[in-house]
Amino acid sequence: MTAYFDHAATTPLRPEARAAWLEAVDVVGNASSVHGPGQRARRLLEQAREEVAATLDCDPVEVVFTSGGTESINLAVKGLWWARRAGSDGIVLPDGEHHATMDAVEWLRTAEGAGVTAVPLAETGAIPVHAFAAALPGAALATAMIANNEVGTVSDAPALAAAAAAEAVPLHIDAVGAAGTIDVRFATWRGAGRAAAGLVALSVSGHKIGAPVGTGAVVVSRHAALSPLLHGGGQQRGLRSGTQDVAGAAAFAAALSAAERGREAEAARLTGLRRRLVDGLRAAIPQAELLGDPDRRLPGNVHVHFPGAAGETLLFLLDQADVAVSTGSACQAGVAEPSHVVRALGRDERAARSVLRFTMGRTSTADEVDRLLAVLPGAYARAVAAGSR
Ligand code: PLP
Repeated sequence: MTAYFDHAATTPLRPEARAAWLEAVDVVGNASSVHGPGQRARRLLEQAREEVAATLDCDPVEVVFTSGGTESINLAVKGLWWARRAGSDGIVLPDGEHHATMDAVEWLRTAEGAGVTAVPLAETGAIPVHAFAAALPGAALATAMIANNEVGTVSDAPALAAAAAAEAVPLHIDAVGAAGTIDVRFATWRGAGRAAAGLVALSVSGHKIGAPVGTGAVVVSRHAALSPLLHGGGQQRGLRSGTQDVAGAAAFAAALSAAERGREAEAARLTGLRRRLVDGLRAAIPQAELLGDPDRRLPGNVHVHFPGAAGETLLFLLDQADVAVSTGSACQAGVAEPSHVVRALGRDERAARSVLRFTMGRTSTADEVDRLLAVLPGAYARAVAAGSR
């Protein structure tokens, strides 16, 4: 069986999510219909909304179900921009965000003339709160990823939200890599404010937490001003029109609740596996360098710079040994791009092409770690030799 170290790309379906999906998918009604079957579907949908709200610490009415992280982020970022206050200008965008955010902002820049203020990352990959706060005055909106999906560093969400509230700037948080793994608390991070600013939107994705691909949600504060991407039947406060996917919502809610129930124990288990991998790696390949924050990081993420070896060669060699890993960065026509996140840590392009991301999750085991450690030194030696030829 493949040793799977790519849980940040997508993680296996949870049995709870499968069961919830199977139960809901045979309910025939459209949740917007007034007849009995429609109302049965509506009850399932609203139960799912309540369950998600309880886990993410928000009101059920603030949960907008979407098709996943990319849609949630596009709705939040473009919707906040389109609904911005007169006189506000520009988007605050930390370096090293996910492409869903970067490319949505880039589209707003080229198509809509939005100004963009970049915020350089700290060497650890964290978003520096002072630099972020300094970029905020007068901005139309700000966005921030709370757990970096490549290097795993966790930024200070409450501090970033407080900075946005202090400057009365609407903030979107990308919590796709964080939800189900760290404690995501929308209302707590948002604080007491009732205005349409501070933390107003937060994106999560189903397939990163063991729900089916094509599920997810964006939490949108009831006080936020946000324009929809999809117009139509006016479902979900008019923020996302279209007949709602009841089974998808039920599965997403079940996965999120299951992840939340076991979150602390699972974080401790994954931290143990991470130590096993890091200790083994250090002993076998002393030149390997761990990137990201050593402590404030996602428990199952190990991100490594392998000097002199191309990340994609290593990935290929490990794949031949039935070990699935990732370079973390985007792929264009089958060729891995240098990681923009590693560049944002201040590293050169060579380093940004010489990294691998190992991400562990619910099904990861010590045996898988040992299998990876058994083949990694040989793969590294071959990748370095291939690079020097
Ligand atoms: N944001 C982050 C941090 C991610 O890791 C991802 C997916 O890798 C996304 C957004 C996009 O989510 P989805 O794959 O659900 O569209």
